[in-house]
Amino acid sequence: MSEFFHVLFRLNVVPVIDCNKMPSCLMTENDHSSFRQYMDDPEFKEKFQDSYISSAMVKCYPVIDIRQDLTAVRCFGLSGSTKQDIRNFKGIKDLNDHYLRTVDAHAYDTFYSGKCADCRKRKARQCSGGCYAFKINEMLKM
Ligand code: SF4
Ligand code: SF4
Repeated sequence: MSEFFHVLFRLNVVPVIDCNKMPSCLMTENDHSSFRQYMDDPEFKEKFQDSYISSAMVKCYPVIDIRQDLTAVRCFGLSGSTKQDIRNFKGIKDLNDHYLRTVDAHAYDTFYSGKCADCRKRKARQCSGGCYAFKINEMLKM
């Protein structure tokens, strides 16, 4: 992934991750510092700072999709486990609140990797450990 970013950066493309942000612990210090070589270009620097890849924060919010059969899912990654009939909700806010209560509320109390258990970023609610698809079963159990 880091190599892919370098290829894009050399083409003056700064990718923005809108979902499924990689936790910063998956990149080494060398990966992070290797991006500094581009920072002499002020335009690149500004775009990089605005991009989500430069942030250590990993958070995720419902990105509700409504399907042709009038069921909704919290997001495409959780489409197998968060289906709801939209006719049971007063509106999009009601549906969003449902997903916040039943899924997102457990983002920082659950983990799929032992590394996350003692991680201060999780405890400080700065990193929820990446895509919830990896731990949705534990989240739903809670
Ligand atoms: S749970 Fe995964 S697929 Fe769904 S919005 Fe979060 S990162 Fe994206
Ligand atoms: S919570 Fe987990 S994924 Fe996030 S930084 Fe800590 S160890 Fe890495």
